[in-house]
Amino acid sequence: MAALTPESGRLSPAFLATFLGCTTSAAWTLDLAQMQGRVAEQSAVMLGSGDPAVLPVTQRFRLAEVRHYVRRAARRLERFATDTPIDLESEPCGHCGKCEWRVTCEEAWTASDHLCRVADISRRQRQRLMEAGNSTLTLLGALEAGRVLGIGAETLSRLVQLARLQCRSADEDRLLEAAE
Ligand code: SF4
Repeated sequence: MAALTPESGRLSPAFLATFLGCTTSAAWTLDLAQMQGRVAEQSAVMLGSGDPAVLPVTQRFRLAEVRHYVRRAARRLERFATDTPIDLESEPCGHCGKCEWRVTCEEAWTASDHLCRVADISRRQRQRLMEAGNSTLTLLGALEAGRVLGIGAETLSRLVQLARLQCRSADEDRLLEAAE
């Protein structure tokens, strides 16, 4: 398995891809073991880079190294599936550009006037704004003065300007649609 490579305190996408692939592969292999009555010693995943010109890399790993983790993760997933929170909301991430749910999520973000529609806004800035009661694009655009803990005055002013531009553009789109 690839080495754990923290980047700015986070796990690298390559590590996460390998890790998730191994977990899924191990889960299948353990299911197979129940059906066949025999446990395989190893499993493997083929990891693509997203570039069709580059051949996928095969990573082999020993099931004994991940078995306990996989069982624990499976139990957590089952608990989550039987008691799913009803107020879940998607949060944009680095995978959105390749995700098949992108259209659905974008419609939901538009409908909820989500702060992620502000250009270049970070997840941390959205969190800070929500904690300060500015939970939508419209509320951010209407912010006249004041401070938000964790966001510098200059950055806040830029985000407010961007939110106003986005609101104006959405209003113009609506007027154009109504006129058609
Ligand atoms: S587009 Fe995909 S990756 Fe992005 S938030 Fe929605 S479900 Fe998650």
